[in-house]
Amino acid sequence: MPHHVPLIATIVAGLVLAFIFGAIANRLRLPVLVGYLVAGVAVGPFTPGYVADQPLANQLAEIGVILLMFGVGLHFSLKDLMSVRKIAIPGAVVQIGAATIMGVGLAALLGWPLGGGVVFGLALSVASTVVLLRALQERRLIETERGRIAVGWLIVEDLAMVLALVLIPAVTTALSAEQGSGLAGMGMALAITLGKVGAFIALMLIVGRRVIPWVLHWTAHTGSRELFRLAVLAIALGVAFGSAGLFGVSFALGAFFAGMIMSESELSQQAANETLPLRDAFAVLFFVSIGMLFNPMILIQHPLPVLATLGIIVVGKSIAAFLIVRAFKHGTGTALTISASLAQIGEFSFILAALGTELELLPPEGRDLILAGAILSILVNPILFRLVDRHMEKSAKRELAAEEVTPPVKPAPCVVLVGFGRVGRAVTEGFIGKGLVVIESESERLEELRTQGFKVVDGNAVKSEILVEAGLEHATHLLIAVPNAFEAATIVEQARRISPKITIIARAHSDAEVEFLTARGVDHTIMGEREIALGMLSLAQTRAKA
Ligand code: AMP
Repeated sequence: MPHHVPLIATIVAGLVLAFIFGAIANRLRLPVLVGYLVAGVAVGPFTPGYVADQPLANQLAEIGVILLMFGVGLHFSLKDLMSVRKIAIPGAVVQIGAATIMGVGLAALLGWPLGGGVVFGLALSVASTVVLLRALQERRLIETERGRIAVGWLIVEDLAMVLALVLIPAVTTALSAEQGSGLAGMGMALAITLGKVGAFIALMLIVGRRVIPWVLHWTAHTGSRELFRLAVLAIALGVAFGSAGLFGVSFALGAFFAGMIMSESELSQQAANETLPLRDAFAVLFFVSIGMLFNPMILIQHPLPVLATLGIIVVGKSIAAFLIVRAFKHGTGTALTISASLAQIGEFSFILAALGTELELLPPEGRDLILAGAILSILVNPILFRLVDRHMEKSAKRELAAEEVTPPVKPAPCVVLVGFGRVGRAVTEGFIGKGLVVIESESERLEELRTQGFKVVDGNAVKSEILVEAGLEHATHLLIAVPNAFEAATIVEQARRISPKITIIARAHSDAEVEFLTARGVDHTIMGEREIALGMLSLAQTRAKA
């Protein structure tokens, strides 16, 4: 290599290995996040071979945290939270309390100071947004009541953690000041910190709320999409960095507020979503840098504390959540789903662990236990969900058996449409009759369709079980109205396996795509741009003739 390029090497090694291990994890039906963590372990100092630059990786991870928190802010809707607040707020508070007490207990057994125990317990109490949302999406539970409760619960946990992230350094500074100036000094330090946080929140709500949308609208009027995306990113990073510098709040809180303010207007939210690919890339580096910190030897050297940590996360927290949900008179199924959703820890735990060790509250061993607990609980999570699924299936079967048995009705032939965007919507508007089944992966779009009386399947059509659920076997036509030709080709491949004779009509945007899709077995391809041209031509010629 011509120069000393540690930044490039760290980014490249991180992303490339994360891709390789992520792909392997995906093959093994594990969350890809596990792959990213393993990639981190591979480039970390505890395994042989190339070792990435840890301080640089940590800074890259900070950008990941900023963008992740910005994303949490973007999806933070006060309305959703309000609809489930009666159970989500007490649920999250009691669960955090229970996990913290268990954490403090384990920490006491290991001989750590109380402060370390509290940080440890808090870190074990908060579930990962990424892991939870992915698990719910896979099972198409986001739109259900139990899904909303789980998400609301998680938002309350996130907010509690945002507070914890701000308060822990404040209390620590206050406590260390105590030696010199006693209680008054501690109160003062705490008051100054809370005052700064208050000033920051007030500034964001009063000034930011006006300035940020104005900047976005102004940029939108320039007509440059690139500039618009840049504006969103500049606001996210600028607010996070600026607020940390000026008000001493964490990058995370600054980014969270920037996101929440941006989510208020329709236009800004759409724009903000465009920065998601960047967020995902940096989130990957975040997980890699966390993996780098992990010393796998802890599994061999301290197996019992690791097991106890995992027990608190998976068993302790689940029992607490289950009892709370049942106490609120929700069914066993709901209680099980919510318990399983929250029986893991992730990004916030890592941030807390990093903060705890930096402030010398938490011994390095505590951080290793948190990391081990996170990696193992994320690994165990899909298994928990499978157990819940099995339980639900069994009870559903029991209910069915209890009901009167009706002879199965032969399903009527139908048309399956994939994608309910600009193209799919037009198809549903023109469709006559009832036999249309729509597959769509963006859950928000489905509500509207359901009210129109179509059968809808929430999921990604590249998965054969989704096609089967839509009744492809009995369909006469499959209409693929998704914009990505590679995805369309995968859908075709799966569909042909289920129903070899079905007529497939797909959407394309270029001659190359038409050729590609035809070669993969599509019967008819409609190229959007050509249809537009034909429409224009026919209009112009009728006008000319008239
Ligand atoms: P548009 O480009 O506006 O017609 O939107 C395409 C629609 O297809 C969007 O609503 C996407 O969410 C949806 N979509 C894209 N890929 C898939 C897929 N593999 N399965 C189901 N829906 C999809």
